[in-house]
Amino acid sequence: MKQAMAKIFCIANQKGGVGKTTTTVNLAAGLAKVGQRVLMVDLDPQGNATMGSGVDKRQLKLTVYDVLLESASIAEAKVTSDKLIAGKCGYDILGANRELSGAEVELVDLERREKRLKQALTEVQDDYDFVLIDCPPSLSMLTLNGLCCAHGVIVPMQCEYFALEGLTDLVNTIKQVHANLNRELSIIGLLRVMFDARITLQQQVSEQLKAHFGNKVFNTVIPRNVRLAEAPSYGVPGVLFDPSSKGAQAFVAFAQEMVDRNTKS
Ligand code: ADP
Ligand code: MG
Repeated sequence: MKQAMAKIFCIANQKGGVGKTTTTVNLAAGLAKVGQRVLMVDLDPQGNATMGSGVDKRQLKLTVYDVLLESASIAEAKVTSDKLIAGKCGYDILGANRELSGAEVELVDLERREKRLKQALTEVQDDYDFVLIDCPPSLSMLTLNGLCCAHGVIVPMQCEYFALEGLTDLVNTIKQVHANLNRELSIIGLLRVMFDARITLQQQVSEQLKAHFGNKVFNTVIPRNVRLAEAPSYGVPGVLFDPSSKGAQAFVAFAQEMVDRNTKS
């Protein structure tokens, strides 16, 4: 049975290059592949999640920028990709491009500036099972708009030496948003990405994470896999680019883990 309202998740970590965008597009594709209705929102002016979903950010007439400034609805601005549909993992995309970097400044003087995305999503919540929001590598007004509308945060992280310290700022921001703006917000889970089991340090950090965060660490582990890194240059998620690769299989397993968690709670 389909749920009535979409579950909304931010994929966030204030560090760049940790695997946020790879997680967002592959989880979106994985969820679509197992039959879920998905909207992916690109909140990063770099537009990597948009491009990685097969949508040319330079050709977009309307983006998440127009939605934040309330000059378009999500229904008007969303697009889809023929490649995704042909690959049977189609999802809707609310894209981004460089224009979005201006939103930060333009929103400052506006009312409800941190709740713009939340407001826009209420109109389409019944159309999806999952909304996934790819956040920029900062704790900015854009990320705040994501955190204000989300039920939870998925935090991709590499199992390296300072992994735990790096989480402090994000955890504090999430606590503040929870206290002041969004009572529903919590960390859904930490996702171990780019994992290499041959590296002892990574295994140690992985054990530390489990000791420290318990069931907030997802069961699924995403391995370091070159096919995931190659996929964006073909404009498709790794899940579609090479479905038999270890990386693709891990993301489909992760999608299933997310579906199972959601139907349980
Ligand atoms: P972020 O969005 O956090 O900046 P990206 O998802 O763009 O991070 O990932 C950073 C780089 O690492 C990209 O070049 C991406 O292709 C690569 N990458 C991400 N996850 C993996 C993985 N599991 N295996 C190999 N390369 C990966
Ligand atoms: Mg990114």
